[in-house]
Order: sequence, then C-alpha cells, then structure tokens
Amino acid sequence: MNSCRGARTAMIVGAGVAGLTAATALAGAGWRVEIAEVAPLKATSGWGLCLTGPALRALAELGLADACLTAGYGMSVITHVDVDGEPAGQVRLPRLTGARRPAMAGIARPVLHRILHAEAEQRGVVVRQGLTVTAVDQEGELVRVRLSDGTVRLVALLVGADGIRSSTRSLLGLETSLDYQGQMVWRALVPRPQWVTGIHQFAGKAGTAGLVPISAGVAYVFLTENGVEQSVLPEAGLVPRLRQILKAFPGRMAEIRPLVSGSESVVRRPVLTTFLAGAWNRGHSVVIGDAAHAPAPQMASGAALAIEDGLVLAEELGRHGSVRAGLAAFVRRRRQRCRTLVETSVAIAGLERAQRHREAYPLTDGGHRLMAEPA
Ligand SMILES: Cc1cc2nc3c(=O)[nH]c(=O)nc-3n(C[C@H](O)[C@H](O)[C@H](O)COP(=O)(O)OP(=O)(O)OC[C@H]3O[C@@H](n4cnc5c(N)ncnc54)[C@H](O)[C@@H]3O)c2cc1C
Repeated sequence: MNSCRGARTAMIVGAGVAGLTAATALAGAGWRVEIAEVAPLKATSGWGLCLTGPALRALAELGLADACLTAGYGMSVITHVDVDGEPAGQVRLPRLTGARRPAMAGIARPVLHRILHAEAEQRGVVVRQGLTVTAVDQEGELVRVRLSDGTVRLVALLVGADGIRSSTRSLLGLETSLDYQGQMVWRALVPRPQWVTGIHQFAGKAGTAGLVPISAGVAYVFLTENGVEQSVLPEAGLVPRLRQILKAFPGRMAEIRPLVSGSESVVRRPVLTTFLAGAWNRGHSVVIGDAAHAPAPQMASGAALAIEDGLVLAEELGRHGSVRAGLAAFVRRRRQRCRTLVETSVAIAGLERAQRHREAYPLTDGGHRLMAEPA
C-alpha cells in the first residue's frame, strides 16, 4: 500500500494534457494526487499544438497562460486561402483572457508538457512513469486500484486521463467506438517564415494544409489528406510523400515544400474521433479528456476541452459533499459542450472530404463561438 490512501486522495491515469491539468487543479483544491503514466515522460511526441482562446483561459486559471505564451508564439488571426490561392477571409479571434494577451498560442508539445509537469510537481503531485492500472474495484467509499508494478492504492477518486485508446475506460466497462473519419493528418516542424504570424489555412484540391507558428523560429505544417485508407507509411517515406502532397496547394504553400525536406519531425496520424454517449463515471471513477470525448484535430479544441475538464472536475468535487455527487455534476456540466464539439468536428471532416471547404468555415467559427462560452 502507498501513502496516497483514503479521503481526498486521487489516482490519475495518464500524464497528458488532461491528466496533468486535472492533477494541478485537484492539488490546488487540497487533494493528494498521484499520476500513473505508462510512457517515459520524455517520450512526448515532438510536434506542435495550437492552444485556442478557451485553452489559454483555462490555463490562466491555473496561472500558466503567460508561461505558455512566453515559451510559445501568441497570435490572434486565422487566414483562409481558397483552392485557387485567393484569400477567403480572415477570422480575428476574441481575446478571452483580456486585451493584454493574444487570442491563442502555438506551442511545441514537449514544451507545454514541461510547463504542466513542473506546475503539477510544484503543487505536490507525484508523477510515476512506466506504470499503468491493471484492475479497479469500488470498495465502499474508496476505489481499490491495482498497478502494473503489483502495488495497490485505495483512493477516494480514480481519473482515467489516458487518451482516446483509454484502457481505464475499458476497465470501468464504459463502451465507445473509435471512428475513423477517412482522413490522415500530417504535422511537420519547419523554420518559421516571417509572414507566418498567425494560422494560415490553405484549401487544396484533395485536402487542407496550413501553418501554425510555435516559437519565433519554428512553425508546424499541418495537412489533412482526404478519402484515404487508414495506413502506416515507413519512416523513410514520410518526407517524400508529404512534399508530393504539398505540390497540390496554391500560393505561398509552395515556399514551404523545400523546408519540409529538412524537417526533423514529420508525423502522420489517422483522424479518429470518439464520444462516450453513455456514462463517463462508475462509482468514484471517471474518464476525462480524449478518453471521454476526442474531436477531430481540425477544431484544435481537444486540448482546450481536456484542460477545462480538469478545472470543472476540481470545482464540482469542491462544491459537493460526496465524490459521487461531484462526479455526476461534472458529467452534467461537460456532456453537451463536448458532444457538440465532437459532432461539429466530424461534420467539418465530412465537408472537407466532399471538397466543400467554404461550408466548413462557418462550422469552425460556430465551434469557436461555443468554446468561447464559459466552460
Ligand atoms: C495530429 C493531432 C493534432 C492535434 N492538434 C491539436 C491542436 O492543435 N489543438 C488542440 O487543442 N488539440 C489538438 N489535438 C488533440 C489533442 O492532442 C488531444 O485532444 C489532447 O492531447 C487530449 O489530451 P489527453 O490528456 O486527454 O490525452 P493524451 O494527450 O493522449 O494523453 C494521454 C496520456 O495517457 C498516457 N497513457 C495512455 N495509456 C495509458 C495507460 N494505459 N496507463 C497510463 N498512462 C497511459 C499517454 O502516454 C499520455 O501521456 C490534436 C490531435 C492530433 C492527433
């Protein structure tokens, strides 16, 4: 048995965005928190992430927005370019954390994780790597959690924050499907061209591509390949394939192709979405973040939803006398917002597959307006 035992103790599975921010919020509310993370922490994939306004707002509540802006790249405008290379409009996003800060930030994932991890540890959270959960049983008011190193914890709260393929979700018997949206997404780090001071999105004939700055010197290229089977390419084939697909894009994307050849980091992932339509909790256990609701990356809102989850979870547990009542209130507050976001992202993916990009822009804007509402 471990010292993390009894009332107001929590075990969190997964040290991703959801797990680390939930841990920080719970520790800030007086909980003793331990995280079991299956991977070595330095293994966080090296591509970038866009933290939209709601993500920055949630990070500001944890006192972390300025650290992310300093380490990343602040911006406020999305520029759309249509299939003929013509400007298709600019969206100026609202500054949800006040006029002093930009509307959003691009940031390298390992940098974001370092910031979140440091804050969690600062608040006393214990992060154990190379560890997972193998069994979960509710025992009265406590959860008995068996870990892969053979040790056991008896905690008041178990949080599954272990991503879209969550095994905690399975251990709890919460069923959902992972839905492939017929798209593969690419990310590649490139030197930031000077004109890239916000998000640039280009509609091509067979997909969408664009750029997001993540620091003064680095941007990431994003590209969505439409109507393809889910597949894995050999490592050596990634750069040539990405450069070939980029040929189809108009205007200034042509400047980006040669930069990709020297890219240190090219990743290609299937667009998978999920939404847990049934219960998100069992007894004193709950799943959050991508484990409960994973939108397609086109909305750039998965991280925002994950961070909001952690804040709302700590808030509702603080408001209610029992963990069960707190979890029920958490799920009530989160379900509709997360469902709408996932459904909107799926609709956008469908319009992109049908090459109806202009119809997708209002959906994207509507999704951002919804997310601008308080969590
Ligand atoms: C290509 C791509 C680009 C994206 N771009 C954006 C973007 O720009 N903006 C945005 O907001 N969102 C973006 N998203 C979505 C975003 O990455 C996710 O919504 C977000 O990371 C979810 O956080 P999470 O903590 O729930 O899950 P994850 O980030 O997946 O973290 C889960 C953690 O749990 C660990 N884990 C897994 N299984 C176990 C286990 N059995 N035991 C213990 N630990 C385990 C993992 O190692 C990981 O550390 C993108 C997604 C993809 C695929």
